[in-house]
Amino acid sequence: MHELSLVAEILRLAEQHALEQGAMRVREIRLEVGVLSGVEPSLLKRAFEALSMGSQAEGAELIFEAKGLLLACKACQKETEAKELSMRCPNCGSLQTRVLAGEDLLLKTIVLEA
Ligand SMILES: [Zn+2]
Repeated sequence: MHELSLVAEILRLAEQHALEQGAMRVREIRLEVGVLSGVEPSLLKRAFEALSMGSQAEGAELIFEAKGLLLACKACQKETEAKELSMRCPNCGSLQTRVLAGEDLLLKTIVLEA
């Protein structure tokens, strides 16, 4: 399952961070979820609860920030945030666009508890 491997990676990073900082617990993990990432926050949360059990990240709060679709247009050379899930340039209507952001799941911050 997609979510499980993502969560495993998030957990690994959070635990590594806690270890480096000498913290006992992970309190909060903030994630940026691109609209095209295919990540379902509720599934991710459930997977996280299951996988983090017994780890330093058990009970940590997951915070999701939605990231819109950012397109770069070849026709008008503009970078625009798309209002809807479409590859069409919101500025000139061209389809010669490239996705700059909105496809990824990013780990933004990890808050630790000493
Ligand atoms: Zn354009």
